Amino acid sequence: LMELNNIQKSFGKTKVLTGVNLTIGEGEIVSVLGPSGCGKSTLLKIIAGILPLDDGTVTLDGAVVSSSKQTLATEKRNINMVFQNFALWPHMKVRDNILFGLKIKKLDAKEMETRLQEVVNLLHLDGLIDRYPAELSGGQQQRIAIARALITKPKVVLLDEPLCNLDIQLRIEMRTEMAYLFRSIGTTVFHVTHDPSEAFAMADKIVVMNNGVIEQMDTPMDCYTNPKTQMVAGLLGASN
Ligand code: ATP
Ligand code: MG
Repeated sequence: LMELNNIQKSFGKTKVLTGVNLTIGEGEIVSVLGPSGCGKSTLLKIIAGILPLDDGTVTLDGAVVSSSKQTLATEKRNINMVFQNFALWPHMKVRDNILFGLKIKKLDAKEMETRLQEVVNLLHLDGLIDRYPAELSGGQQQRIAIARALITKPKVVLLDEPLCNLDIQLRIEMRTEMAYLFRSIGTTVFHVTHDPSEAFAMADKIVVMNNGVIEQMDTPMDCYTNPKTQMVAGLLGASN
């Protein structure tokens, strides 16, 4: 479903991605780990079509959506995302923030309410939907950003440290529930995280990035029992 071929990206003279190759199958949950500054968010923005790439291609559903010659607009990619720095509309109540992405989909009012209730339950937003973003904590705002991405049931979801502002208990609960939800809808997920336990809990495959390339891509079990490099061993290995 999603293919990254020799993705290269520099900012000025700094090479951030030096040849990333990756294939993600339909409905797969892939978690990306790696040190701060290794290019995880950059890669995610390239997949989203927010950043152009210097060289290589991104292919979605068999069609090239990014190359050095063209970048298909984000809204034409049937993907949705949650960022490290999520942005909610400050002048809209939570309810309208969440429903925003559905407005263009022309669903009837009943279907919209059903879906709203689904994400409200999943993300523990009871009692919050008639507030404004400014009246919420950081973790609550983050959950609303996730709800907004999920309610459209997109084919591909890109998550950039989606749970990083939540406390440990909520993080553990939500990573399990999110993975369950994605599997039941069949969503393909590209998930960036700092937290190996989050990757182990959610992923079908783990990608470890370092110095602008992929060190290893394997099932969580294989990364754990059979790390291919010292770096992967240090991060995920059984000898840890
Ligand atoms: P973290 O885990 O801290 O979020 P990351 O792996 O997501 O890190 P990126 O945000 O992809 O890292 O950044 C990779 C490198 O590219 C960093 O050195 C960063 O400073 C640089 N960088 C990112 N965006 C830009 C930009 N717009 N202009 C210049 N440099 C950038
Ligand atoms: Mg990042």
